[in-house]
Amino acid sequence: MQPINRNCRDSGFSYVREIMSGKHVNGEVRIHGWLHNKRSSGGIHFLLIRDGTGIIQCTMKRDKVEPEIFDLTDRLTLESTVELSGTVKKDPRAPGGFEIQVKELKVIHMAHGDFPIAKKYHGPDFLLDNRHLWIRSQKMQNILRIRAKILEVAREWFRMNEYTEFHAPILITAACEGGSTLFNVKYFDRDAYLTQSWQLYAEAAIASLGKIYTIAPSFRAEKSRTRRHLTEYWHLEVEIPWCDLNGIMKVQEELLTYMLHRLSEEMAGELRTLGRDPEDLRRIEPPFEKITYDEAVDILNRDGINFEWGDDLGWIEEKHLTLKFDSPFFITHYPKEAKAFYHKPDPERPEVTLSADLLAPEGYGEITGGGQRIDDFNVLLKRLEEENLNPEDYKWYLDLRKYGSVPHSGFGLGVERTIAWICKLDHIRDAIAFPRLINRVYP
Ligand code: ATP
Ligand code: MG
Repeated sequence: MQPINRNCRDSGFSYVREIMSGKHVNGEVRIHGWLHNKRSSGGIHFLLIRDGTGIIQCTMKRDKVEPEIFDLTDRLTLESTVELSGTVKKDPRAPGGFEIQVKELKVIHMAHGDFPIAKKYHGPDFLLDNRHLWIRSQKMQNILRIRAKILEVAREWFRMNEYTEFHAPILITAACEGGSTLFNVKYFDRDAYLTQSWQLYAEAAIASLGKIYTIAPSFRAEKSRTRRHLTEYWHLEVEIPWCDLNGIMKVQEELLTYMLHRLSEEMAGELRTLGRDPEDLRRIEPPFEKITYDEAVDILNRDGINFEWGDDLGWIEEKHLTLKFDSPFFITHYPKEAKAFYHKPDPERPEVTLSADLLAPEGYGEITGGGQRIDDFNVLLKRLEEENLNPEDYKWYLDLRKYGSVPHSGFGLGVERTIAWICKLDHIRDAIAFPRLINRVYP
């Protein structure tokens, strides 16, 4: 097999994406890729070839190629890798409107004939066990491309708005989101944990870098099976000095709107195949609607859903509320006991915090959590004690309120939660290539 650097434009091979854009009509091309599907009828093989940039139909007529090539192609198994050359033709009958009429074909690897993923219904467990092969499916390709684009356009927005990317450690010693979902790791002869959020470190870094963001994995030992919790997920987090609750909600409105509009422009085809009308995203504009936690509780109780003031909104409550909205909306001013210790109590009503979660509509629920952080040393110390946390473990974090404290706010957006909503997925596991769930760390 000849090693070829696909970054070299002069490798002699064309990308399927290029061909599908109409660039080579009536020209001769060479492509290489995987046999995604095949059917034959009346002396013609119809090959669907996938090369990582797209899928194209390639037709091979018996009388247009050497007999050995036609017979070999007859035996060609799904997912075999091939190189082929031929003429590009515009043809409205072909998927995407273009096809290659094949003149030559070379098999690079004849795949085993028992590719496990067939054109029939497979249960979710089967597809998860065969995830390494299932990610080749059209559905997963579309989701993974949208995922990459979401992160690309988010970074674009951060660059345009002069944020600095910052990286916090993954191995940590002090919890920030509650001990029950901490993953314990043996760290030589002591215990450490996998990070749940960059929060505490981000607050240190704003005094160095100003406005910052990160896109990094977070880990939560979520013990319940839900459709919206992974144990390892990607977290897009922002922290900003000199920023209050209203300011941080504005930032989220602008960032998310930018991301959604860019996706509707650049990923319209992929979105449609997943059942999402790009127009749903394009019409979303700031400001987003805002209701308080108190109002949310009133709505729930009025609608016959028993809910006690003080509890955190769970799946059932959020689903109920989000079905009333067709755009993302904020719920603000959560009670102290429903939020992590670092959330700033509202000076006018200390039993609630200056917090806001952003909920996606259509039954999806929370996609970001955030708000204003405590900037006073004594208030922070009192909150740590109230939560039975040992101030010794948070000594360095407390220092930040001794040396140049500043009003500051931030939020964390769950990348997979956001993808699940945008792509209308039934389960968060399909928003990531290799999901980690309570009962799954393979493959
Ligand atoms: P939930 O109440 O739904 O468990 P949370 O309040 O624990 O969420 P935060 O600690 O505020 O979530 O985390 C910020 C964001 O990270 C959430 O808004 C959500 O989008 C995402 N997130 C949190 N936990 C998970 C998880 N286990 N899997 C995927 N995304 C998550
Ligand atoms: Mg949680």
